[in-house]
Amino acid sequence: MAVSPELNLENMDETARLKALREYSILDTLPEPRFDRISQMATRLFKVPMALISFIDENRQWFKSCQGLNVQETPKQQTFCLHTIASDELMVVPDAVLDARFADNLWVTGELGVRFYAGAPLIAPNGAQLGTLCILDTKPRELDESDRETLRDLAALVIDELQLRQVLSTREENEGRLRLLESAIVHANDAILITEAEPINQPGPRIIYANEAFLRTTGYTLQEVMGKTPRLLQGPKTQRDQLDKIRAALEKWESVVVEMINYRKDGSEFWVELSIVPIADERGWFTHWVSIQRDITSRRESEAAHRESEARKTAIFENSLDAIVTMNADGEIVEWNQAAEKIFGYSREEAKGCDLANLIIPPAFHEAHRSGLARYLGTGEARILNHRLELPAMCADGREITVELIVTRLSTEVELLFAGFIRDLTEQKLIEAAFVAARDEAECANNAKSEFLSRMSHELRTPLNAILGFSQILQMEEGIEPLRDIVDDIHDAGRHLLLLINEVLDISRIEAGQLALSPEPVAVREVASEALILIAPLAAKVNVSIEASVILDSELYVLADRQRLVQCLLNLLANAVKYNRDNGHVDFECLSVAPGSDASENGGTEYLQIRLRDTGIGIEAEKMQRLFIPFDRLGAEQGGIEGTGLGLSLTKSLVEEMGGTLGVESTPGVGSTFWLELPIAESALPQALNGFSDENNNSEIAIESSVLLIEDNPRNLRVIERILAHRPRIKLLAALQGKLGLELARQHQPDLILLDLHLPDMQGDAILLALKAQQSTRDIPVVILSADATLGQIERLKADGAREYITKPINVPQFLAMIDFILSGK
Ligand code: ADP
Repeated sequence: MAVSPELNLENMDETARLKALREYSILDTLPEPRFDRISQMATRLFKVPMALISFIDENRQWFKSCQGLNVQETPKQQTFCLHTIASDELMVVPDAVLDARFADNLWVTGELGVRFYAGAPLIAPNGAQLGTLCILDTKPRELDESDRETLRDLAALVIDELQLRQVLSTREENEGRLRLLESAIVHANDAILITEAEPINQPGPRIIYANEAFLRTTGYTLQEVMGKTPRLLQGPKTQRDQLDKIRAALEKWESVVVEMINYRKDGSEFWVELSIVPIADERGWFTHWVSIQRDITSRRESEAAHRESEARKTAIFENSLDAIVTMNADGEIVEWNQAAEKIFGYSREEAKGCDLANLIIPPAFHEAHRSGLARYLGTGEARILNHRLELPAMCADGREITVELIVTRLSTEVELLFAGFIRDLTEQKLIEAAFVAARDEAECANNAKSEFLSRMSHELRTPLNAILGFSQILQMEEGIEPLRDIVDDIHDAGRHLLLLINEVLDISRIEAGQLALSPEPVAVREVASEALILIAPLAAKVNVSIEASVILDSELYVLADRQRLVQCLLNLLANAVKYNRDNGHVDFECLSVAPGSDASENGGTEYLQIRLRDTGIGIEAEKMQRLFIPFDRLGAEQGGIEGTGLGLSLTKSLVEEMGGTLGVESTPGVGSTFWLELPIAESALPQALNGFSDENNNSEIAIESSVLLIEDNPRNLRVIERILAHRPRIKLLAALQGKLGLELARQHQPDLILLDLHLPDMQGDAILLALKAQQSTRDIPVVILSADATLGQIERLKADGAREYITKPINVPQFLAMIDFILSGK
């Protein structure tokens, strides 16, 4: 229904009206008796079936109280009341059917059948028309002046109730808020104390309230603190200056915050942060002090711990022997410790804030430093962080030093920093240089020593060849008996000297790392038997039996240098025999050893243990650690047993060079067990002709043969002549020079050539090559005779075509066996 044109709603300040309505917060509330009483009173007073109290907002008429009809709200435009609130006056419609404004209103035409309407506007004290109190009838009627007055009074009563309701609800709200505040204070985590405002000085303001947290932290009950002053919290350590600060603030009625030590009832201390504020009444008079106390003991403790840790860090920073320098993302120095001052010569004040590159990085490295920093900041790619680097650095006096540097990123919340830990390597470099020089010098000296020993041994071997050769020849001569003891002594002394020379030479080679070994699969049985054959004469001489059936039956191979292994076994066998007792015994056996439980220990390799158990004098425990010291014979030199004191140390070095180990167990008076372990090899390589011995080659050649000896030393020539005198079917030709030797070889086509390596006109190896190069001499077997026993040399000459290589001094029986072997065409 359109608003009637007579209505002057334009004049109403609708916004102000709606604002006033909202302030009463009445819309959409539940029915209340105080309003229902008024509407009921209206129905009774006016004897009408319907009375309504309603409020009108922007869209609707909402009913707070309804008598005679049940309605919540209706659209605003359809209402009588909209007309009522358009003025401050009552609106009376005696018969709506006859009133053009309402004749077709739904309330009139519909089920309600309203004919009469009288409404009084509900006018707030500020003049806003909030709604209406209206009475309705289904019959037309009139209102006299007294009725009108009554209706107005009832409307005024509605407004009074509305006002009262508002006052009550505001009070309730305030009370609720007060309860909330009180509960907040009572239950606050911080201790809260309220005192009177005065007296500020003696005895101090009296406590009128303390909350739960206060009682909890201090241990007092409420009764114990009420009426007292806050001084009961103070004690000997309470800071005087903080108390003065409080008093000064209180005297000026100002708030204050302090931190100080308070005391609990039981006398224990705690730290509080105390905030005191004055409270004034509505006239502005200060009536109370409120103090809020926060227990900051743990904060103070962690601050103290932090300070301590800072102090420790500073002490480390300052006392570090390394320079510690921190740099920010702009490359500027932030911190510079004392060591940095000392190393680089800049004081902390000079260094701080400077560009690190300009200060200590040599110009050649500036670009790398800057681009590295930019790359890290841009992409996070760190190339040098947390790596040890060795770099040059610049000092204040222009010196360039070498430093060791490690840079790490410091994660601070404030800014990105890099810390460099820098060590001056100048002194270390000098030491290293001196060390390298000393090492080079020592190496030089060592090489010279090795060279000297090698030469000396060569020089010593040559005359020994004569001594040993002749003494052996003499031993074979008939009619020598009266002089045999002397000849034997000469021979023994010569052999001892030879042994000594060989062992010294080997040890010096091992020390110089020049010992060339040729590891190959070696049949244990063979090397054992070779060593046994060589030791047999000595064992027989001193009456010691050797049980070797286990090792001689062994089918196993070890990875070793064949010659050297024989040498090692011989040394150990010789000791087991020498240091045995009369009628003593030696067990020479072997057993395979499974890899250790930790397979990585030896890579899972299986080892063969060769054991020599003797029944000899044994070794005392305290002497054990001297066992492998060269020349230390552990006192055996006094017992008349021949020896050099080098055998065990050489054996140990050789075994270790071959990848094995040497060990010993011994019980004095019972015997010793020496064992060596070597890796077991899969199978044997094809064996070359190995060693000769007179014992297994005693078949003297039956046919006539010729042997050419190319040798410049007449004494050695005589030795060979005398040896070969034992082979009367051999015709010996001799050449004192190389070229002559070649000539004789061509002319006479000997069956064998014995070639010395050092000749006045030509080197032996050149002669060998010349022999092998000529058709006529190519097939003649050549045996090299030399005092030079280096493995490399032997291998080289064998590769050039030498059939055998005999080292001087010559072992006569072996030499003869070899000659027999070759000449008999084996
Ligand atoms: P040597 O030439 O004196 O035999 P070694 O180096 O072979 O030198 O041995 C060093 C010392 O160890 C010997 O002098 C001896 O005192 C002691 N020794 C070696 N083997 C045995 C053993 N099987 N029984 C007792 N003592 C031994």
